[in-house]
Amino acid sequence: MLKGMMMDRQLSIPAVMDYAADVHPDRRIVSSTVEGGLHDQSYAQARDRIGQLAHALVAMGVRPGDRVATLAWNGYRHFELYYAVAGIGAVCHTINPRLFPDQIAWIIQHAADSVLCFDLTFLPLVSALRPRMPEGIRLVALTDAAHRPDLPDVAVYEDLLAGQPTRYDWPDLPEDTAAALCYTSGTTGAPKGALYSHRSSLMHAFSVVLGAPGSFGAGQRILPVVPLFHVNAWGLPYSAPLAATDLVFPGPRLDGASLWDLMQGQGVTAGWGVPTVWAGLIDEMRKRGAAPDRLHTLLIGGSAVAPAMIRALEVEFGIEVLHGWGMTELSPVGTVSRPVPGQDAEARIAARIPQGKRLFGVDLKIVAEDGAPLPKDGQAAGELLVRGPQVIAGYYNDPAATAKAFDEDGWFRTGDVARITPEGDLVIVDRTKDLIKSGGEWISSIDLENAAVSHPAVAMAAAIAVPHPKWDERPLLAVVLRAGAVVSEAEILAHMAQTMAKWQLPDEVAFVDAIPMTATGKMSKKDLRVQLKDHYATPRG
Ligand code: ADP
Repeated sequence: MLKGMMMDRQLSIPAVMDYAADVHPDRRIVSSTVEGGLHDQSYAQARDRIGQLAHALVAMGVRPGDRVATLAWNGYRHFELYYAVAGIGAVCHTINPRLFPDQIAWIIQHAADSVLCFDLTFLPLVSALRPRMPEGIRLVALTDAAHRPDLPDVAVYEDLLAGQPTRYDWPDLPEDTAAALCYTSGTTGAPKGALYSHRSSLMHAFSVVLGAPGSFGAGQRILPVVPLFHVNAWGLPYSAPLAATDLVFPGPRLDGASLWDLMQGQGVTAGWGVPTVWAGLIDEMRKRGAAPDRLHTLLIGGSAVAPAMIRALEVEFGIEVLHGWGMTELSPVGTVSRPVPGQDAEARIAARIPQGKRLFGVDLKIVAEDGAPLPKDGQAAGELLVRGPQVIAGYYNDPAATAKAFDEDGWFRTGDVARITPEGDLVIVDRTKDLIKSGGEWISSIDLENAAVSHPAVAMAAAIAVPHPKWDERPLLAVVLRAGAVVSEAEILAHMAQTMAKWQLPDEVAFVDAIPMTATGKMSKKDLRVQLKDHYATPRG
């Protein structure tokens, strides 16, 4: 093997902001703030503040490898932490504030965080959890002196930065140095930590720009609703500065009306987030009779996007939908739809129902229960496994979970069941744990939900398995109706029968006021099973 003769320069996260500040210094980072009002700064200003923050962190005693935790919304200070913490060789540990306080306390202990930076919204949570935090943990309120919280021994972010030099001489870190840590939400088990490196974060950021190029570039303004506190906001804090794209951070206000106003006021061109958020925006667009003027793309993932939602956005509002799939363990984006120009409306919608094609660097395979590879023929369904430079090689300090997570060739088991078409489209059938096994056949809960929400009276639907003496399991469908809508179980089933086989239809439709949601805005089947446990007693069918 002949070795290449190229410089051994390492991929580095702070180099991204140095690049952005050099090459497109005037691009903006706009934030809707917790304290109220909008904050607007350039990439050049952000780079200076990141330098100051790095000095401040080192002055506080943060050492390479230390974990600096955050409990914060999408905003400029949170963004600055991503860079300064990683830049000094420490690890930016984002925590999802929507988790149960017990889970947050457990995660802070497990990560052994030495600093916790929090938005004022989370002051009550931080005060309550303080006795359960690691000894000596330092607290930093992400605000200015005027909003100093009434809590002893809390540093104020802007005070820490004040007077610090704006340039930090970033250490030459090996590119596999840990940079960020994010725990899975425990949707299907205990939280597990994905520990990203400088290299993996940048490989992912490059792939995201290449996979969804329409959202990026000069003049584009992207609004990440997907949080900085979970799954790295799908890599946007790294990919937007690389690709000269303005960032518009929504802060704590994620309802349809607030998003509409922010998008309109700031001329947002693309929004990225989970389906539930866009359901709120769609309602608002219908109320106002228009989409925000410049909005042309919504990238939607995290759970399956129902065809009814794709149709509403594409046909009613002319907004391009890109469907993405991914998970914490993949940094997180794995696949995204690739638009084909010139398709008519029906072909456009059909092309966006699958979860998209793989990003560069993400290899996909599907296997049978015995591990044998299955063909990518669009028919065979099996467990989805992935590998690539942006995929975890193990869980942080969790050998038991790590031992179960990979096959013998080192591919990561996603826990999802999927098909792959000959064209390379990924079709997620279900999470392994959510599939409904009826009489030896599998029924996809996603298919049932999509069929139900295509009925105009249905706002939301979630399918779960109910144990059955004869069939093993049968589907039970929980349905939330739109305000004022009246519809019978028989009507919903008749509607679903247009697209589903009779044996796949639910045995029962339970009308509920709301479907429990997880901390990442997905339907929580775990909680729904508890909520509907009485329906198990007398299975119909
Ligand atoms: P959690 O929500 O448990 O923290 P992640 O945010 O990492 O975990 O979610 C990953 C999981 O979300 C995937 O394994 C998959 O089951 C589901 N998921 C993500 N995107 C999609 C999608 N577009 N369609 C269907 N399922 C999806």
